[in-house]
Amino acid sequence: MNDCIFCKIAEKEIPSEAVYEDDVIYVFHDLNPQAPVHVLIVTKKHIASLDAVEFDDIDALGWLITKVKDIAASLGLENGYRLVSNCGEDGMQTVPHLHFHLLGKRKMLWPPG
Ligand code: 5GP
Ligand code: ZN
Repeated sequence: MNDCIFCKIAEKEIPSEAVYEDDVIYVFHDLNPQAPVHVLIVTKKHIASLDAVEFDDIDALGWLITKVKDIAASLGLENGYRLVSNCGEDGMQTVPHLHFHLLGKRKMLWPPG
């Protein structure tokens, strides 16, 4: 998608601090961290949000989920972490490219605000 900021980040047209990359996903530090560790996991394929996930995306998203524990371990999150995807207006999604926030190194609040 031409004007999508996370597509541009995944394609290295916009710089970011990379954490992990493979053919399917790109992981980078959030610009405005909400925890001592806060990275974003995106699919390289443009998917607008959880609402836009299709049957064809099962392999990519299954892969993404299986990689979470390895990404968390590489960031030292042995005491746990939170994985969040904000969707749509009420979910307070601000970037319309599906992404998962991986947050750690502090106790998370529940319920979230
Ligand atoms: P959302 O609000 O859509 O759930 O999350 C979007 C996230 O992207 C926010 O946490 C925000 O700080 C982060 N973000 C927005 N623009 C950029 C950027 O250009 N670079 C990086 N690294 N993070 C960004
Ligand atoms: Zn995109």
